[in-house]
Amino acid sequence: MSAYHPLTLDEAIQIAQEIPNLFDEQSNLQVREIGDGNLNLVFHITDSNSSKSIILKQALPYAKVVGESWPLSLDRARIESEALILAYQLCPTLVPTVYRYDSELAMTIMEDLSDHIIMRKGLIEGNRYPLFAEHISDFLARTLFFTSDLGQNQQAKKESVKQFINPDLCKITEDLIFADPYVDAETNNFNAAIRDAVEALWADQPLHLEVALLRMKFLTSAQALLHGDLHTGSIFVTEQSTKVIDPEFAYYGPMGFDIGAVLANLALNYIGQEHWSRSEEARASYREYLIDTLRDTWSQFDTKFRALWNEHAVDPLAKVPGYQDLYMQQLLQDSIGFAGCKIIRRTIGLAHVADIDTISDDRVRERAERLALTVGRALILQHRQVTSFDAFIDTLEQAT
Ligand code: ADP
Ligand code: MG
Ligand code: MG
Ligand code: MG
Repeated sequence: MSAYHPLTLDEAIQIAQEIPNLFDEQSNLQVREIGDGNLNLVFHITDSNSSKSIILKQALPYAKVVGESWPLSLDRARIESEALILAYQLCPTLVPTVYRYDSELAMTIMEDLSDHIIMRKGLIEGNRYPLFAEHISDFLARTLFFTSDLGQNQQAKKESVKQFINPDLCKITEDLIFADPYVDAETNNFNAAIRDAVEALWADQPLHLEVALLRMKFLTSAQALLHGDLHTGSIFVTEQSTKVIDPEFAYYGPMGFDIGAVLANLALNYIGQEHWSRSEEARASYREYLIDTLRDTWSQFDTKFRALWNEHAVDPLAKVPGYQDLYMQQLLQDSIGFAGCKIIRRTIGLAHVADIDTISDDRVRERAERLALTVGRALILQHRQVTSFDAFIDTLEQAT
């Protein structure tokens, strides 16, 4: 079974059965493929006798994009498993345990998190996750600090940068987030009803200038090891627990790209509340919860990152007066700019989010999409002048 090929259900069971010290001889393994099938296969394997279970994720050598196949390196399975293992060392409670990685088969076997729910789904259902801000700010502060030149030996970091060179997946981001939405590209996918707003965006030269600067940062800044795809569909939650999955886009890039992904996806749900809340009262209350989560995520990240800096920085210039404050301000500005790019790409680019796309009333969906473009554009245009996180909240509240 060793040469690469997409696994069948029976082969997935056979592989699971052969993992030492996991399922016993009397096991009765059941398997289901639960992935969305665009880039990867995800097998859920359970023993009906012991109720032990695992997840087996296998990369496919292509992505299905606009009816075509887009070749994609299988090396991303190695990157995903190594990024999960590294994150586990830095924040063991916030990622699944990796049991095994197989490079031939481009497959990772990991802890089954089926007792959690994908956060995007949970937010659409109107659930609240009171510990999420605390957990995700931990994840961001620890993974970003300890993989940066502040938190690890600078020569060791260069080796680590080599380990996480990820050109195929970076190109997807470069095209789908930082280029295609701003021109009339074939990959774009938007509601015909908002064509006027999309065409205005295509003609918006001051906006394109800011996007070009953010794109340059994504292309050139090896600031820290990023997750690279940290939207609410890559986060499993319960009221007590948060687990980050799916770091196949991991590479050394600008920290604000991961922080901005979290902010943008909370903001997209906030915008989607045009529809999801049952009453004005419920809408106001849920939006207040999302605003609190956004504020807490940034402020706890800021506090924790500074604390790690004060205690663990290895950079000889880390204690220079003023450096930390300017560094944090730059991070805030980057996070807000990248958040804006992500909000726009989810509205007119190839891949959308269910928070807005599954709104059943066409007029409400159109209103939400227009709001998303307004918010995304405003965030991008102001990002280099921002001095406080209030700017993000004000932009969101003023638009809605
Ligand atoms: P992709 O890279 O193809 O998006 P993901 O890693 O996001 O793959 O997994 C796709 C889906 O498979 C998830 O949304 C989730 O439903 C399920 N899944 C992935 N990993 C796990 C896990 N460790 N435990 C339970 N379900 C998982
Ligand atoms: Mg995913
Ligand atoms: Mg993925
Ligand atoms: Mg879609």
